[in-house]
Formats: sequence, C-alpha cells, structure tokens
Amino acid sequence: MSGGTATILGSGTSTGVPSLGTSYPPDYLADPRNHRMRASLLLRGPSGNVLVDCGPDVRTQLLRAGCMGLECVHLTHGHADHIMGMDDLRTFCLKKGGPMRIYADEPTQADIQRIFPYAFAPFPEGIMVPRFDIVTMPDSYQAGGLTIECVLVEHGPLAYCGVKVGGFAYLSDVSRIPAESAAQLMGLDTLVLDAVRIRPHPNHFHFDKAVEVALELGAKTTYLTHLCDDFDHAETEARLPAQIRLAYDGLDIPL
Ligand SMILES: [Zn+2]
Repeated sequence: MSGGTATILGSGTSTGVPSLGTSYPPDYLADPRNHRMRASLLLRGPSGNVLVDCGPDVRTQLLRAGCMGLECVHLTHGHADHIMGMDDLRTFCLKKGGPMRIYADEPTQADIQRIFPYAFAPFPEGIMVPRFDIVTMPDSYQAGGLTIECVLVEHGPLAYCGVKVGGFAYLSDVSRIPAESAAQLMGLDTLVLDAVRIRPHPNHFHFDKAVEVALELGAKTTYLTHLCDDFDHAETEARLPAQIRLAYDGLDIPL
C-alpha cells in the first residue's frame, strides 16, 4: 500500500451510459451503477491529487468527488473521451496561479495543441484560459506523494500510457498488452481493465478477452471498466468469478 485512494470517476465507454437517443428498461436505469460517465480516474495521494484523463464529464466528476485541486494530469492517450474536458482545468490554473502540469506522449501533445490552440496563445489580462505545462510521459514520476509508473500498452493503432501505483494499475483502453508490460502487471492487488462491450472490438478488449486477461494476470481483484450499455451491473457480476467485478462511478480503491 502506498497510502491514498484511487477513485473511479467514470466507468463508461466513449458515449457514456445511458447513451443519447437510446431507450432503456426502467430496471436498468434504476441501478445507479448502470449510469456511467466517460472513463477517468482520480488518484488521491498523501500530498495531492492526480487526474488520469480529462474527458467531457470532468467538471461533474470532480465536483462529485469533492476534488478541490489537482497537482497534475496524466493523459493516457488523445481520444476525445479522454481529453475533451481540458478547458475546465482553467479554474484550477487560476487557483494555483500557474499552468497545469500535463503528462502526455507526443501524439497526445499534438492533439492537445490542435484542439486547444488558445491555451498556448497570448491572451489579454483578465481573461481566463487554461494553461498547460506539458511534460513528455516519463517511465515514472512522483506526484501527490505517490510514485506513478507508466504502463505502455496498445490501444488499436495508438500507444496508451496506463498507470501503476504500488499494487494498483489502471488500463481503461487496451487491445494488446506487450510482454514487458504484462510483467509489470503480475501480482497486483487491484487491476482496472478495459472491457468495452460483449462483441470483439478492434481497439479494445471485449468482455471475454478481458476476463481471460484478468485471470492470466491474476490480480487479487480486477475491475472491468470503459463499459458500454451491454452490461447490467448486477446481472454481469452474478456470472463473473468473485475476483472480477465491474467498476462503477464513484468506486474508491485503496492504494
Ligand atoms: Zn480510446
């Protein structure tokens, strides 16, 4: 244990669940665990908070989590559901009186510069824009009093920079785990792992694949995340082995 908590801010796929324009049975909607915001994680360390991904639900997620500040943001990759909330970081920039440190690989840095050009442009005094201090993703770094290791996996054609903190690891979007990264993931207490849907997907583990990988890696508990509306929380958990559970928004995991 490193001391601290990992909070699942969002356990949903890129559309969120319920998804727009879809009708659901009342029983499905009655379980709050079937309401899934876009995939994101908050690491609460002894001396600060690290946000892992910053999707379009980030404002609601951080308000719900009671998060009053961030030391830095770790971006796993540049897909819209993981970075489109970055404008909302401006209030934290204002509060700390400086830019937000952002850890990201080079393709993700290019995405941020293309999508948020105003964050890098001069602005008149008195106008609040986000400011980013971008750091190229290292193998590991210290933040919030935690040692955060990067776990590199494949997410379709993209690289995905997951996180590992002590016996905890988080891989929300993954289609293949290279052998050297699998070695980092053996003997964990808790693994949070992509299981986007029931049918196979080119860029994600689907349900059967995620269960197979979870059993291979053998974490004491694996939580499946980045879930679409294929999954009813209670029904799905009833047919899983006890060490594999579904993540849900607001789930706290000790670090
Ligand atoms: Zn993605």
